[in-house]
Amino acid sequence: MISFDSPVSDIKGIGAGREKYLKKLNITTAGDIVNHYPRDYEDRTRTTPIAELLPDEVSVIIASAKEEPKNSHFSGMTVTKVRVYDDSGSISVVWYNQPYAKNNIKAGVMYAFIGKMTLSRNNRREIQAPEVEKLGEDGTWQGRIVPIYPLCAGLSQKVFRKTVETVLGEVENEITDFLPFGIRRKYMLSGRKFALKNIHMPENEQCCALARTRLVFEELFILQTSLLRLKADNTGDKKGIRMKNSSMKPFFDILPFSFTDAQNRVFREIAGDMTSGKIMNRLVQGDVGSGKTAVAMAASYIAVKNGYQAVMMAPTEVLAAQHFDSFTELFKPLGINIILLTGGLKAKGKREALEKISSGEADIIVGTHAVIQDKVEFKNIGLVITDEQHRFGVRQRKTLSEKGNNPHVLVMTATPIPRTLALILYGDLDISIIDSLPPGRQKIDTFAVNTGYRQRIYNFIEKEIAKGRQAYIICAMVEENEKVEAESVLEYAQGLKETILEKRNIAVIHGKMKSDEKDSILKAFSAGDIDILVSTTVIEVGINVPNATVMAIENAERFGLAQLHQLRGRVGRGSDKSYCILISDNKSEITRKRLKTMTSTTDGFKISETDLKLRGPGEFFGTRQHGLPSLKIANLYRDMDILKYAQSAAADLMSEDPNLENEDNFDLKIELDKLTLTDNIGI
Ligand code: ADP
Ligand code: MG
Repeated sequence: MISFDSPVSDIKGIGAGREKYLKKLNITTAGDIVNHYPRDYEDRTRTTPIAELLPDEVSVIIASAKEEPKNSHFSGMTVTKVRVYDDSGSISVVWYNQPYAKNNIKAGVMYAFIGKMTLSRNNRREIQAPEVEKLGEDGTWQGRIVPIYPLCAGLSQKVFRKTVETVLGEVENEITDFLPFGIRRKYMLSGRKFALKNIHMPENEQCCALARTRLVFEELFILQTSLLRLKADNTGDKKGIRMKNSSMKPFFDILPFSFTDAQNRVFREIAGDMTSGKIMNRLVQGDVGSGKTAVAMAASYIAVKNGYQAVMMAPTEVLAAQHFDSFTELFKPLGINIILLTGGLKAKGKREALEKISSGEADIIVGTHAVIQDKVEFKNIGLVITDEQHRFGVRQRKTLSEKGNNPHVLVMTATPIPRTLALILYGDLDISIIDSLPPGRQKIDTFAVNTGYRQRIYNFIEKEIAKGRQAYIICAMVEENEKVEAESVLEYAQGLKETILEKRNIAVIHGKMKSDEKDSILKAFSAGDIDILVSTTVIEVGINVPNATVMAIENAERFGLAQLHQLRGRVGRGSDKSYCILISDNKSEITRKRLKTMTSTTDGFKISETDLKLRGPGEFFGTRQHGLPSLKIANLYRDMDILKYAQSAAADLMSEDPNLENEDNFDLKIELDKLTLTDNIGI
C-alpha cells in the first residue's frame, strides 16, 4: 500500500534511476506526485483521417498495418518502419532506436497512433515515434484528454502519467477535503478527490475546468489564510509598545516643507498605530518622490521622543548612506543622534557603531542588511522601518522585529502594486497609500527612440549641462554578472569621450564597486562635480539629486516598467523641467506597447497594471526581486477573479473563527499547521 508520505521508490515502476530524475523536480513522496500538476493537456478524444492530417499537429489516427513492422539498420541506428492504413489513405510510421516498438503492432489489428505528421526530406508524409494504444474491447477508441507535465530529461510523459495513475488509484481513499464545506458550497467548488482526479485524468473539458478552479482557489485560499494568521500572530495577543502622543511641533518646525494631505493622512495612521498599544505592522505605498522618507522621519521622531531607538533599513549601501545624510541633516538641530551601520564599514567604525547602538547613544540607526546580523544588539528598539520592502522577505522582517521587544514595524515601498496583489505580497500588513505628490512637481517628458537618435540625445544632454544641469545614462544589465556589468558601463563611458560630451565630467558607478567608492561618486554627483553619471541599476532606488534633469536609458526594453518608472523618478526632483529618453531598437509589439505606456503616463499604478497585463506577474516582479510566493497552479494574473474570492473567503473565515477552533475547520487547521513560514508563503 502506498500513502501520501510513501517515498517514490515504493511506487511500482519507480527504480533508482527514475527516483533520481523525480528528485530533480523536487518530487520525493507519492503526495508530491499527486501535487505535480499538468502544465497543459492534449485532447485525444478526436481522431483524424490519415488523408486530412496536418503537419506538426499532434493527432490521433485509427489505422492498421497489413504486415508486421520491419527493423533495419542505418548508419548505426535501428529504424523500425511500417505502413498503416485507414479508409482515407495510408502513411508510413517510423521509430528510431526503439527496436522493441516492433512488438507493439500486429498485422491486421486496428490501433490508435498518437503523434505528429511530419514531411520527410523527400517530402513524404510520415509519423515519427507515435504512441500506440489498443482500442477498447468493442473496437472503438476511448480517447481521453491527456495531461502534459512539466518534466525534466530522463522522464517521459508516458511514464509520469502512468505513475500518477498508479498513485491516485492507491491513495484515493486517503484524500481528505480540508476546505470547509461551507466555503465549498458558497463558492461552488468541487471536492478535493474529484479535483485531483480530474486535474490529472480529466473526464472531459468541463471536469478539467472545475478541477482547476477548485485547486487554484485552494492554493490562493491557503496562502491568504496563512498570511492572515501570520498577521494575527504578529499583532494578536502580544502587546505592542504604547507610545505617548507627544508634540510634533519641534519636528514640523524644522522640516523645510509642510506635509501634503496624503502625507498627513498616512502619518496619522502611523501615529494611531504607535500609540494604540498594539504592534504596528504597516505598509506605506507611495509613488517615487511622494515623500515616504519624510513620513518615516516623523515616525522615527515619535519613537525617539518616547525614549526608544528607531531603525531604518535600506536595500543598498548607497541608499542607506543617503538616508543617513538626510536624517542627520534634519535631526541634528534637535540633538538626535544618527548612526550608520552597513557591511562596508571598516572594523573600527563598525565596532564604534555597535557600541553606540547597544549603549543607547544612537537614537536612530540607518543601515543595510548589516542591521539584522546577530552581532547587533540594540538598547531598546521601538520602531523598525524597512525601505523598498520588495527586496526584503517576511523572514528578514521577522528577524528584525524579534531583536526588540515587539517593536512597531513600518514598511515602505515605491513599487506600485494593484491592491489584490499587494494583499498577497503583504497580506500580513495594514496598507497606507500616499497617493499624491508634493506640489510643484513637473511632468517628466518621456520619449522612446531608437539608437539612430543617439548623437542627438548626446547633443541634448550637452545643452542641458551647458545650462548647469546634470544627466544620468543607464545601461541595462546584460547578464547577472557584476564583472561583465562593470566592464560594459566602463566601456560605454569610454565611448562618450569620442562624442560631443568629451569635455564633460563623466563618472561611472556599478555594483562591483566598494561602497565607499560608490559613496564618494554619488557625493560628487550630488555636489555637482560630475556632469554625467553612467550607471547600472544601482541607482534605481531612492537616489535624490534635484539638479539632474536628463535620464537616458539604453536597452530600455530589458527593464520592467515598474523599474523604468523608478529609474525615471531620479529626475524631475527639482524645479527644472526634466526629461527621460528610452532608447531601444527592439521592434516587438510588446516592447512598443510597454514603452508607449511609459511615454503616455507617469501614474505608477497605471504603469504597473499595464506591465502586469503584458508580461504576467513573474516577469513583472523580475527574477531578482523576491516576494512573490511560488505557486503550483494559480496564475496571479489570469486567476485574479478567483484570487478575489479566495481573499474574501479567507477574511470571512478568520473573522468568524480566528483560532480555527470550529470543528468544521479542523482539517484546514491541520493542513495550515503543516506549512512552515518559508514554504507556505514562499518568500
Ligand atoms: P520617496 O522616498 O517617496 O521616493 P522622498 O521622501 O525621497 O520620496 O522625497 C522626494 C523629495 O521630495 C525629497 O527631496 C523630499 O525632501 C521632498 N519632499 C517630500 N515631501 C515633501 C513635501 N510635502 N513638500 C515638498 N517637498 C517634499
Ligand atoms: Mg524613498
